[in-house]
Amino acid sequence: MTSAAASAPAPTGSAAASGTPASKGKELAKLSYFYGPGFADMVRLARTVLDNIREDLAITATTTRRWIRNQCDAGGWIRTILAWLIVAAEFLYWMSTAVAQLFAGATFCLFMLLPQMVLFCILEAVMLLFGAIVAGLDSIVTHVRHISYVCESCHARFTLPVYVCADCGAKHCVLKPNRYGALRHVCTCGKKLSSTVLRPSRAKLEAICPNCWESGIETPLTNAVNRTIVIPVVGGESSGKTALITAFTTDLINTRSAARGLTATPDGVDKQTMYATMSADYTSGTVAKTATQQNAANASAFSMSFFLSGPKLNPERRIQLVDIAGETFVNNAENEQQLQYRDADALVLVIDPMSLPAARSRFGASLDAGDSGTISSARAEDVLTALNNNLRAAAQLDRHGRLDMPIAVVLSKMDESQHLLDRFGDPAVSAMKGLDAQRYGDWFDDMDFLCRQYLYDMDMGDIVDSITQTFPNNRFFAVSAIGHTAGDGRGFKPKYVDDVIDWILRHKDPSLADALGARRFSNAKLPIVEPAVGLYDTMFARTSVASETNAAI
Ligand SMILES: [Zn+2]
Ligand SMILES: [Zn+2]
Repeated sequence: MTSAAASAPAPTGSAAASGTPASKGKELAKLSYFYGPGFADMVRLARTVLDNIREDLAITATTTRRWIRNQCDAGGWIRTILAWLIVAAEFLYWMSTAVAQLFAGATFCLFMLLPQMVLFCILEAVMLLFGAIVAGLDSIVTHVRHISYVCESCHARFTLPVYVCADCGAKHCVLKPNRYGALRHVCTCGKKLSSTVLRPSRAKLEAICPNCWESGIETPLTNAVNRTIVIPVVGGESSGKTALITAFTTDLINTRSAARGLTATPDGVDKQTMYATMSADYTSGTVAKTATQQNAANASAFSMSFFLSGPKLNPERRIQLVDIAGETFVNNAENEQQLQYRDADALVLVIDPMSLPAARSRFGASLDAGDSGTISSARAEDVLTALNNNLRAAAQLDRHGRLDMPIAVVLSKMDESQHLLDRFGDPAVSAMKGLDAQRYGDWFDDMDFLCRQYLYDMDMGDIVDSITQTFPNNRFFAVSAIGHTAGDGRGFKPKYVDDVIDWILRHKDPSLADALGARRFSNAKLPIVEPAVGLYDTMFARTSVASETNAAI
């Protein structure tokens, strides 16, 4: 398995001169004409026209005053009176023409100015309305199509990456419809950049993670418009998480997608390499342990992500399965903020059924050497406590302390022992159907009850109760990712692995679930039978699965 360091895209240097994290929020683009400069131009124009009128008035007044003064200065009272009379007459004449001129001038000016003002106001209103419509459409499209990006390095989810100008390398933190332009922004270097999801050319720009960029790190993103579905797979060490991810991913990419007319491709070179390793593991029937990174700079979780595209998938989907290394998970020593919880669509909690102390003492003797060597050493209570703590720190709980994200609780390695199969495997489900075909008609509802009942019988009722309290939307599954003992030379034969993810997709992305032909689950209120300690023995006393279990006790 490739390590987390290899899976995360290598950060490429720190903040460049062309835009720094400190300039976040400040768009390195020219302000749109209709958001400021336009008004300034109009005010300047009006002021110039009024100044001209005022200047005309002042010049006329000064000329008149000077002429009278000249006549008075020439001497003689008769001359002065005459001058005054002439002035009065001239003044009257001048006044009438001046007023007429002034009126004509002002009217002319105003009529020249007014149409401009009116036109500008109409244009301004239209452009602002257009901007608002584009901004509205942009956010509607982003919301309806669930467009989001998830950083491979810090696991943050966001809808708007930081885009990089192809010409000058400036970082555009808010390249979306706003006062810098509706359809495009003009970079400070003069380059025009599409600024809305409505224009596909924006997706062709180089994009980096805004969360990493705040810390001055440039983590490149796969910049195709897509919808990312993040599913953390959590559980103690050796609980079967990696096998589950390997089984689901390999099946989907190798066979399932092609059968449904979809194209599945690992995301980038790192994931391609990881997928090649997974494929080899799948064929040989072995599983590599999740690589745990001790280096604080690296993520403590590794993820497998791949794209799914097809005629009915718009935008294309990116599925990210995050495998959180068991050791760091239980020790709560994560090197990062576990953003994958906050931004997760759903959770898969994997429990090795033989890791429960009661199970080990009751059924441990029935395991072969290969299986007993791979039993998870993590205590299920510790795993759940760690998960709860992480969720409380990272995710948004409602006021009752609940989370609306679906959780699939998986009892892995069900074929480790016949006793486990008799408890919650196919034989148990068949036996349950035999009890009352009407009441217990749904295979997966029966399986859900049997898994809960198993945990109750193994003194883990608290875990079941705690999960149902925190996650109202939950379902229990019994799976076998490898289908037999790991490393016995045979390839993977996964059982019910796809159903786990299918159930999640049915909740979180029904159109993708349809495209994949995912199983539909009943809407019955779970569990269909309330589990209780000892209920299994009472229910199945007269069935085919009873003898084996009773013999083991
Ligand atoms: Zn530029
Ligand atoms: Zn990031």
